[in-house]
Amino acid sequence: MEKVWEFEAGGNIGPRMVADDMVFIGCEDKRLYALDVTSGQLKWKSELGTKVLAFGIVRVNNTVYAFCENGVLFAIDTQTGKIRWQFVPSILSPFVVANETAFIVSRIKKEVGLCAVDTRTGSERWRFTTKEAVFCPAVHDDTVFFATGDKRIYALDVNNGETRWESISKHQDFSRPAIAKGRVLITGDNTLYALDASTGAMIWEVKDAGPIAGTDGPTIVGDHILLPNNLALVDLETGAEKTRLAPGTSQSIDRVEEGIVYTGCTGGTVCARDLTTGELKWYAIVETKPPGYYGWDKSEEFVFAAAPYSQMSFGFTTSRVTKRWYFPEEVGGAIPWVAGEMVVMFPPTLASNKRKVRGYTSSKDPAQQALLEIRDKISDSPEHAAPVALAAFRKGFLTDTGQFAWPEYCCLCLDPAEKRVNLKETIDKFRLLVDGVPYCANCYSNTMKGLRKKEKPGVKIISTNPPVFVFRNERYWAMFMEANRAR
Ligand SMILES: [Zn+2]
Repeated sequence: MEKVWEFEAGGNIGPRMVADDMVFIGCEDKRLYALDVTSGQLKWKSELGTKVLAFGIVRVNNTVYAFCENGVLFAIDTQTGKIRWQFVPSILSPFVVANETAFIVSRIKKEVGLCAVDTRTGSERWRFTTKEAVFCPAVHDDTVFFATGDKRIYALDVNNGETRWESISKHQDFSRPAIAKGRVLITGDNTLYALDASTGAMIWEVKDAGPIAGTDGPTIVGDHILLPNNLALVDLETGAEKTRLAPGTSQSIDRVEEGIVYTGCTGGTVCARDLTTGELKWYAIVETKPPGYYGWDKSEEFVFAAAPYSQMSFGFTTSRVTKRWYFPEEVGGAIPWVAGEMVVMFPPTLASNKRKVRGYTSSKDPAQQALLEIRDKISDSPEHAAPVALAAFRKGFLTDTGQFAWPEYCCLCLDPAEKRVNLKETIDKFRLLVDGVPYCANCYSNTMKGLRKKEKPGVKIISTNPPVFVFRNERYWAMFMEANRAR
């Protein structure tokens, strides 16, 4: 990674946001900074007189909104940094802008509600008062949908705030609604509801849909909804489950793009799966230290990831041969933010200097940058008809205890692993024991029968010094390499 620019703010950097061609920084010095993402040059700084709240920066077209500690929402011109208007009092909550209106959760004394604010003037158009907290709203055509803490879901006319319908549910802790094909999809706790968008009538519900983050809402994929539990695809029309892309798992859905779903698996890994077949495209272990939290972003060619607790940030390729290359130590652990050709790195949580933000080029050839080069070659094995990957491990690859990190997937078919086998081999004077090679129950039983020449093992040791494995499954080999490289 090549550093292109560096900018030092007047205090520790707080909330941040990269949107299109600009970087916005809420700073400890009670200013909002705006930088050009390509050059890192300061475009303006705006005196707010108060600190911006975490996740309080939102850009919509030519306006950047900043929610601040004193309860004020500022609307600032992105070109000049001039404050267009201020709105008080508002509550920090994700809000939506549609039809030149910002729908903001507000509070006056003890009265909570949803406020429609004219984005040109900052004046209030209407206000809808509720008894309980208002969850993240969504706008579709001329209706705004949202749920409240007293188990109600509302549809209001965006023009005057009049109630179109009100629906009562059994749950609370609601997600942002998603609207598709005349249905309002919303989760309350772990239950997914489909309501008729024009009447509010309940059409169907799916229990145990999995945790859906409040600000994200249900993920719509064509005629289906993708659920975190099992990565199940559910028919929008009927609520019937069509397929499970990853049975037996519960994952956060990070993003869906070009027929691929990117999920956060357990233990700090990112998985990319085909949305139609569920086929695992690639898999990368990012964070190895608990709690396994990580962040990532991707450009067209590469994925950039951060392990905040391990204090490492790196980029990697997702092609057959996985390559990793690292950001300098000074930004290790910072979550990379991809913006076109640039990767913006804010100060890592554990950095001593939290005033600096840096821009790196993202399109450099990683082969040149790779700290660890993979010398392994893919070749056909005389033993198996299928392509086989040979992994020649250098000493450094082994941990202190001589253990390898195995992905949690069957080494033959890539299904979730349920069984483990130990490999033992003595070649010349060297003896190698490899523990816990994962198999699914099915492949395990076939492999055991393999003793009677029916199925060969998915992994075999063919040399011990250096250890060389034969993997029958090429993608599995790439995953295995990735898992070991992460440590
Ligand atoms: Zn299997």
